[in-house]
Amino acid sequence: MEVGYNKRNLERCLCKSCPVQIDSICANERKLNMLDTLANMKEGSLMPEPANMAAIYCSIGKSTCADINTDEICQCNKCPVFSENNLSTLYYCKLGKED
Ligand code: SF4
Ligand code: SF4
Repeated sequence: MEVGYNKRNLERCLCKSCPVQIDSICANERKLNMLDTLANMKEGSLMPEPANMAAIYCSIGKSTCADINTDEICQCNKCPVFSENNLSTLYYCKLGKED
């Protein structure tokens, strides 16, 4: 099942504070823009382009940031979006979304 690319999932996604991205200059720049956009988004308004996101990789697929550190621990299994969608793998930023 496709994971929804929407405000609710973005709000709950734990990628925003994940250690895999925490020192990534690329992801941090995207996060700043993303959180700013999120703060001003109304329910049902259009989502930003996935290419500008640093979250909900289970929905959008792999990160294009080359400086993420996937030796750190993925947080997905603590995320409500993960359990709600019966997801089973981790590191969506590295491996892409599930089939
Ligand atoms: S997909 Fe997992 S490893 Fe990647 S940023 Fe999100 S929580 Fe971290
Ligand atoms: S399962 Fe992982 S990638 Fe998907 S919303 Fe949760 S923390 Fe983000």
